Amino acid sequence: MNLNDLNLQPTSARPATLMPVFFIGHGSPMNALESNEFTAGWQSAGASIPTPGAILCISAHWETRSTQVTAMPKPRTIHDFSGFPDALYQVQYPAPGSPQVALETREQLLPFLAEPDHNWGLDHGCWSVLKHMFPNADIPVIQLSLDHTLSPEGHYNLAKQLAGLRRRGVLVMGSGNIVHNLRTINWHNPAGGHEWALEANEKIKNLILGNDHRSLISYHTLGAEIQRSVPTPEHFLPLLYALALREEHESITLFNDHLVYGSISMTSIKIN
Ligand code: ZN
Repeated sequence: MNLNDLNLQPTSARPATLMPVFFIGHGSPMNALESNEFTAGWQSAGASIPTPGAILCISAHWETRSTQVTAMPKPRTIHDFSGFPDALYQVQYPAPGSPQVALETREQLLPFLAEPDHNWGLDHGCWSVLKHMFPNADIPVIQLSLDHTLSPEGHYNLAKQLAGLRRRGVLVMGSGNIVHNLRTINWHNPAGGHEWALEANEKIKNLILGNDHRSLISYHTLGAEIQRSVPTPEHFLPLLYALALREEHESITLFNDHLVYGSISMTSIKIN
């Protein structure tokens, strides 16, 4: 079975178009409930592309020992956080899964081995964004995990294998944050960034716009402000997944390009 068995775009009667790719800075899970400039940005981003046949989300919040792909027909909404208002635990994002797209994704990833997963579901890195981007929750969504045994280069190379999905109408969306240091959060500065975090975000953005993927893969060698802004890899790696899928002729658009609470950047990109 492959994606041709599904009614995904493009059909054989239609020329193959390349589905755009997103990297989304997701920030606080509370964005799921709020209407703010960032959720407006996600909404516009969703409205700016053809309706995907399926969505493949690479979230900072699903790390595993090997690469896994959710393969259940009905993924649960996972409330993978604590200490938030009750209303956030009531949020459901009842999008269907797709065992077929999961299978096709595993086939595309070869020679990298990815296992089907039947336990995870959709974590907040995925649903807090999709709730705004595609509020009807009627597009099948699958997640690809981050194998914590891989190097950044390993993740980048693995991501390149996903290129074929774009021509089959699948939206690939990395969800993390370029700058993400929870230990240096400044609750008194909801709409700004520390000097070093702003510097790091600028530096990373310039490398993104200059297509310097080599340097981005070696982000830990890029200086103290970047080490401080990316203390752990999981929120940064989804960016590498998105960038790995950029084709030569494609351009990159930044949106939601702001820092919040000192050390979280909401900077997001669209590749098309
Ligand atoms: Zn997060």
